[in-house]
Amino acid sequence: MSVKIPVSPIPCLNFVSGKFAPAHGSKRQVTSPYNGNVIGEFHESTAEDVDQAVREASIAQKLWAEVPLKERTKILFNFREILVRDLDEIAHLKSSESGKTFAEGKAGLLKGIEVLEFATALQNMDMGGKMEVSRGVSCEYRREPLGVVTSITPFNFPAMVPMWTIPIALALGNAYIWKPSDKTPLTSMRIAAALKEAGLPDGLFQVLQGGQGTVEALIDHKDVKAVAFVGSTKVARAVFDRGTKLGKRVLALGGAKNHIVLLPDANPELAGPGISDSFTGCAGQRCMAAAVLLAVGDVDKHIQKIIERAKSLELGKDMGAIISKAQVEFLHNAITKAEQQGAKILVDGRKATVPVGHEKGFWMGPTILDNVAANSEVAQLELFGPVLSIIRCKDISEAMKIENSNPYGNACSVFTSNGALAEKVIQNASAGMVGVNVGVPVPREPFGFGGIRESKFGQGDITGHHSLDFWSNMKKVTMKWEKQQDSNWMS
Ligand code: NAD
Repeated sequence: MSVKIPVSPIPCLNFVSGKFAPAHGSKRQVTSPYNGNVIGEFHESTAEDVDQAVREASIAQKLWAEVPLKERTKILFNFREILVRDLDEIAHLKSSESGKTFAEGKAGLLKGIEVLEFATALQNMDMGGKMEVSRGVSCEYRREPLGVVTSITPFNFPAMVPMWTIPIALALGNAYIWKPSDKTPLTSMRIAAALKEAGLPDGLFQVLQGGQGTVEALIDHKDVKAVAFVGSTKVARAVFDRGTKLGKRVLALGGAKNHIVLLPDANPELAGPGISDSFTGCAGQRCMAAAVLLAVGDVDKHIQKIIERAKSLELGKDMGAIISKAQVEFLHNAITKAEQQGAKILVDGRKATVPVGHEKGFWMGPTILDNVAANSEVAQLELFGPVLSIIRCKDISEAMKIENSNPYGNACSVFTSNGALAEKVIQNASAGMVGVNVGVPVPREPFGFGGIRESKFGQGDITGHHSLDFWSNMKKVTMKWEKQQDSNWMS
């Protein structure tokens, strides 16, 4: 199904205390990667807009903290039903602004809904703990909300990435302020409307449109207690430094350069499609996309399958668009430079056929580069596009040395039929998420999502059980109601 693109610009508003209204900063435009048309406009949120949203969220949060977990999650059940009901409509909207295909738009939201389902089950899963530790004395865990928290999200998953944090932070009793990407603000209004319809009290979920200035004002606000960020490594590091200098809790997920180790004994049914889909899915604009193929020994029969599948993809139907004209130019330059440095172009996406009627959009087809040097720019920089760089390796040790030398640590996969060799890659990979015969090793709920090294600043994961400690404080209560006979210094 082709993506429905808004025909005239949609005003992208802030959502504060249950009402949509424009912010007061400078005006910006939103462009659809599909056709280059302006499909939205918004005003950046100023420090005053941020202050008003935080103050009103603070008031709402104090009441929300007193609502039992079971009642909070009831609203999230309603939210889930609304998202499922409106799945197609939201998928069209998010695809039109991010460049995804309709199927990818839908799949992203469904993955986000899995996190929501995890959050709705918290009352059955996160029961704390209580125990009589000595006669008449008990110790107990009590999870408490932090207050007002914020989340800053990237363009490439306008609904899924925010859904990593919205349901968990709200279920745990916080008020949540979302700063969507300035490139994809349209979807945020749809999510806000769904939460309102679900019955979430006003003020608990605020949306502030904006860019760097809005992010900085949010981090600096004294009543914002925790900052979750997902985006490029450069900005993740800046957000982490700024927040932690102020003594705040910050979890900042950054960029990636994911490696796939391909061994000759790989199952051809899994390797060809798995690797091809990994680097072409979402037009390579996902932090779990394959970027470097470490081809160990003679794997040409597998590479042939990767080429065939990549070549069969039709732009606009099987593969979406690139976020901006500048990004297309950046990718073209990177490919030209790689070629100058000795890489051989097996598939050239610069020459791909642009979908009819979308000539003004931002397009690039799958690109496969062979004989790439491990120390070349194309092998080391995060490109964030449908480009696969093949580095030829004589053995697994050489492949792992190359993988380990990259500064990122999001994902690494191996394709093999040998369990012992797979285990060697699992143990040696310098990545937070490792796959075996899986091109995109995204852990499914309740397993948490998160990389290491330059792909994540801060402790814990952004989803799953380990995320709960990020969005809450664990109070330890020790109680005694009667004087004991055998009291000691600890009593
Ligand atoms: P980005 O870093 O440009 O923007 C992310 C967010 O930060 C946006 O909301 C943006 O408005 C804001 N922002 C931009 N510049 C800022 C600045 N100087 N100070 C403060 N805030 C700023 O990232 P992007 O281009 O939207 O997204 C692509 C990047 O995100 C890629 O590097 C990709 O790998 C990464 N990403 C990582 C994960 C992960 O889980 N690790 C997931 C998705 C995307």
